[in-house]
Amino acid sequence: MTHIIERGQKFSNWERCPCGNLSEMYCVCEGIYDTRTHDTESPVYSTSQYKVLICPSCEQLLILRYINSEFEFEDHDPHFAGYTKQILYAPAKERHYSIPRTIADIVAQAEKVVPTSPRAGFILCRAALEQICKEQAIPETKTNSKGEVEHLDLKKRLNLLLEKEKLSKDLREIMHGIREIGNIFAHDSQAYLPDKISQGEVEVLIGLVDYVLNRLYVDNARTKEAVDELKALKEKLNPTPKGKDESNESDLPF
Ligand SMILES: [Zn+2]
Repeated sequence: MTHIIERGQKFSNWERCPCGNLSEMYCVCEGIYDTRTHDTESPVYSTSQYKVLICPSCEQLLILRYINSEFEFEDHDPHFAGYTKQILYAPAKERHYSIPRTIADIVAQAEKVVPTSPRAGFILCRAALEQICKEQAIPETKTNSKGEVEHLDLKKRLNLLLEKEKLSKDLREIMHGIREIGNIFAHDSQAYLPDKISQGEVEVLIGLVDYVLNRLYVDNARTKEAVDELKALKEKLNPTPKGKDESNESDLPF
C-alpha cells in the first residue's frame, strides 16, 4: 500500500497499535534519511522517515519507517511523494486465553520476523497449522490396511482435523490455502519465489491464521462464557428458595 504525502511533510503519529488502540501515539523521536546525503552521484535515490512511537494505552514501543520507492530525478511528481510503510518493531499482539500458548507463540514469532524476513513469516504461518494439529491430537502416522505405518502429511492431518471438529467448508479452504502458500516458501528454492513479497502479504496471511484460531478456539470459549453468564443471571433473578421448610411455614401468622 502506498501512502501519499505532500513533499516536505511528515507522516502523522496516528497509528493502530497491536494492542488494539487506535490513537495519536507519543513520539519519542523521528528523523529523515536521504540517500543523497551519502551518495551524490547516483541517479536514483530514496528518502525514509523514521518514527519511534509509544502507545499511550499499553505503553509499548512501535518503530516505523516510511520509505519512498527509488525514482529517477527527472521522473517524479513535484508536489507529492508515495511512501511504503514498514513496521520495524511492534509489540506482540495479545491473543485470547483460549488459544493454546504453543500456537500463540508461533504466530507471535511470525509477526516478529515480518520486517526482516517475510519468507520466514510465511513458513511460520504453516508451522502454526502443524501446531494446531498437534494440540488437537491429530496423529502423525497411521497404520494402513497392509499393517504398514504410513506418514501423514499436513494436508491429510488437516483433513482429519476438519472432520473431527466438524469444521465448515470455508474454513477448509482457508486452512488449506495457508498450508499451500507456506509450502511454496518452505520447499521451493529462492529462485522460484515471487520478486516482491512485502510485509503486507505476510500480515494478510497472519490475519488468516488469526481467523482460523478465532473460529477454532475463541468462538467456542465465548459461547461457553455467554452460557455461563446467562445461567448466573437467571439464578440471580430467579433464586431457588433456600431453607424454606415446614417449621418456617408454621411460623407464618396465617
Ligand atoms: Zn498499545
